[in-house]
Amino acid sequence: MAEYRFSALRQAINRPLPPVTTSGERVSETFASKVFTFSVMEKYLSRDTYAAVRRAVDEGGVADMSIADQVATGLKAWAIENGATHYTHWFHPLTDTTAEKHDAFIESCDKGRLLESFPGNLLIQQEPDASSFPSGGIRNTFEARGYTAWDVSSPAFIVGTTLCIPTVFVSYTGEALDYKAPLLKALGALDTVAAEVCRYFDKDVKRVVATLGIEQEYFLIDEALYHARPDLVLADRTLMGHQSAKDQQLSDHYFGSIPERVMTFMREFEQEAYRLGIPVKTRHNEVSPNQFECAPLFEEANLAIDHNQLLMETMKRVARRHRYRVLFHEKPFAGVNGSGKHCNWSLHTDTGVNLLAPGHNPKTNLQFITFLVNVLKCVNDNQDLLLASVMSATNACRLGGHEAPPSVMSVFLGDYLSDMLDNIARKVTDRKMSPSLKTELKLGIGKIPGILLDNTDRNRTSPFAFTGNRFEYRAVGSSANCSAPVIALCTALAAQLTRFRDEVEPLIAKGRKRDEAILHVLKHYIADSGRICFNGDGYSEEWHKEAVRRGLYSGSGVPETVSRYLSPRSVQLFTSMGVLTEKELISRTEVEFEKFVKKVQIEARVLGDVAINHIVPVAVRYMTVLSDNVRGLKELFPSGEYERLAGARKDLIVEISDHITMIKKLTAQMIQERKRANVIESMYERAVAYENMVKPFLSDIRYHIDKLEMVVDNSMWPFPKYRELLFTR
Ligand code: ADP
Ligand code: MG
Repeated sequence: MAEYRFSALRQAINRPLPPVTTSGERVSETFASKVFTFSVMEKYLSRDTYAAVRRAVDEGGVADMSIADQVATGLKAWAIENGATHYTHWFHPLTDTTAEKHDAFIESCDKGRLLESFPGNLLIQQEPDASSFPSGGIRNTFEARGYTAWDVSSPAFIVGTTLCIPTVFVSYTGEALDYKAPLLKALGALDTVAAEVCRYFDKDVKRVVATLGIEQEYFLIDEALYHARPDLVLADRTLMGHQSAKDQQLSDHYFGSIPERVMTFMREFEQEAYRLGIPVKTRHNEVSPNQFECAPLFEEANLAIDHNQLLMETMKRVARRHRYRVLFHEKPFAGVNGSGKHCNWSLHTDTGVNLLAPGHNPKTNLQFITFLVNVLKCVNDNQDLLLASVMSATNACRLGGHEAPPSVMSVFLGDYLSDMLDNIARKVTDRKMSPSLKTELKLGIGKIPGILLDNTDRNRTSPFAFTGNRFEYRAVGSSANCSAPVIALCTALAAQLTRFRDEVEPLIAKGRKRDEAILHVLKHYIADSGRICFNGDGYSEEWHKEAVRRGLYSGSGVPETVSRYLSPRSVQLFTSMGVLTEKELISRTEVEFEKFVKKVQIEARVLGDVAINHIVPVAVRYMTVLSDNVRGLKELFPSGEYERLAGARKDLIVEISDHITMIKKLTAQMIQERKRANVIESMYERAVAYENMVKPFLSDIRYHIDKLEMVVDNSMWPFPKYRELLFTR
């Protein structure tokens, strides 16, 4: 068995560097060459058709069915010219990956001939037999078919020889079965009310879009070593492994020079990303050994999310060519940093203003403060929902560690803004304000510096940090589809801005000046939201205590946190904003509970298997070696001398034997608990049983395996160790 480990190591170490396939072509020339962009459309579509598509995209509406045939004809011509033979609707089921089902561009015509064809109805809508996708009970098998429908706001693209058309995925009864359908609704709801609020400050604003810049963290592991670890192959993370003597304590990996083999991989996937129109910009080594990050320029949120999903797929594909496996799991290795997907998020108007950046005069700054405070209030009032939206079996392994945002929501604003908001809360009066007070406030607001924070002032321990011109939602997990948190955030903010508008309007109607009315409402929001603001160290023990004192929500386990989607407040929020119905919310949480159960179940099975079939036999074999040795000593030495010599070995035999006993006992108990949990009818209760009764065994069993790893002969140990997985590049 151990031979397998050593052969994997030999392969990994002797791996020749793959050839550099990048040709040095200029990005500006190849960028989006595989995308049906507006400029391509202009060439392939008639002027009227092009104008209709453009209108649908700019106005955020749906495409008119009557243009479908013309668009499909143009799209097909372009795709075939660019080597495509197949097309697929590309969608985001509730599985965290994307789904596709390829069809060839063919249609039979008479005399056994084939014709290349792609009619408009296939562009607009398809009916994948998708009964095996998670639906949380919405689609019983008798109504198994869902359909996918074209999302005009995200352009079609070609991967390999397949034309991919971004779509939403809904059931025949109209319920969303994916992430994109509610995402588009949430973005739409936010657009409408945010634009209304903007018009208090600028009459010309027609649209507000949410923007997103997604920093993606990941690990790279040599393929041979990866295959020698059943836990990595089946569970995407290591379920055992003693800490390496050296890992990240010297911080010598973070921002270090990128290893050549890794660099070749990065250049190749980046080039593919460029062709797909993904503007990847930043690359660097992360904190943990063999951990890296990639970040594109920000884009409109829906597109940014499509691009992030596509980027992950591209990275996985390219990694194989380089004999790597890329791990997107949030916590592949215990004891070193896990991976997040920081969502940098802001709001931009069609007049070119970033609503979360300070402006240049009192008017734009009051607008900035208005949006900032509404975000604050929205995070304060929906802490549990925002946590629910990032919670999963995998992200739970990372959150709350001393390297990742805690599983309590808080917002970092920095001292300057905190003081400014305090000032507003203290000084603004409910009565008519004196002219001198108004001037004072105006001066203060007008003076906000354009660049609020520099890098050194950034707080990296906050789950939701203001970073000068945007918020960075850092609690999102690296493997997640970030639609879920963006849906929660945008829906909650849409509801919050609606409330804001409904509170400001009556004041204006009563004759208060607009700015005064706004400040008056903001004053109360600031006071209400004080408890969510925290500028200190979010990883510290004190903060955890302080958060409890402040009464902030901190979930107790994954199922309980996820169930917050179903709190009366959340249901009211999603239904009132028209984003998700109660039925859809119930089905979604059901899917999440089931996903959680299955993930923990798989981990428990893998660990049980590895423990009993791999670790215990090796430990027993080493015990036999020791016993033989002890017996040999007895033959060779007189009894007094023998006792002195054999003592340490005997102790070791006992130690190993005790660990083996515990592993066998705990594994048997874990199997019992699984059996008990599996018959629980309610998926929520089953998930709770997995959380409380099954999951703890994972670390308990691991403890004994990791102890054995330290004492069993290295040449017998069957699996690549942490030092090998993390330091082979
Ligand atoms: P960090 O220093 O936090 O690691 P990075 O440079 O890795 O920063 O990533 C910052 C991300 O924030 C980029 O994707 C960038 O495009 C994005 N970003 C910048 N401004 C905005 C904005 N207004 N809206 C959304 N995202 C933004
Ligand atoms: Mg970064």
